[in-house]
Amino acid sequence: MTRSRKMSGKLTTKQLQAELDTTTNEFRSFVNAIIPEVMKHSALIYALLEDMGKMEKITCVHCKEEVARPTLSGLEQNDDCPACGKNLFGTEQTSLDDILEEE
Ligand SMILES: [Zn+2]
Repeated sequence: MTRSRKMSGKLTTKQLQAELDTTTNEFRSFVNAIIPEVMKHSALIYALLEDMGKMEKITCVHCKEEVARPTLSGLEQNDDCPACGKNLFGTEQTSLDDILEEE
């Protein structure tokens, strides 16, 4: 007689897989519920800023992608293009090496 694995108190691989599937599915529906909310809020904020004239549109000199970003004091601006990763204005930021070289 072999001892039934169900009696040992440990979960079988099948049960573990089922647990994992349930958790994955719950996580998925959670994410699916959150994403539209986040999108809705960011769209709302961008529309609000645009309406207030607090948005600037920059066309990337490298890939011609139009980037809209808020112009708010206190908000740090990132000049990197979200599409190609290069500097939006084609001007690379002066690195520490450049400063040192000039001396
Ligand atoms: Zn670009």
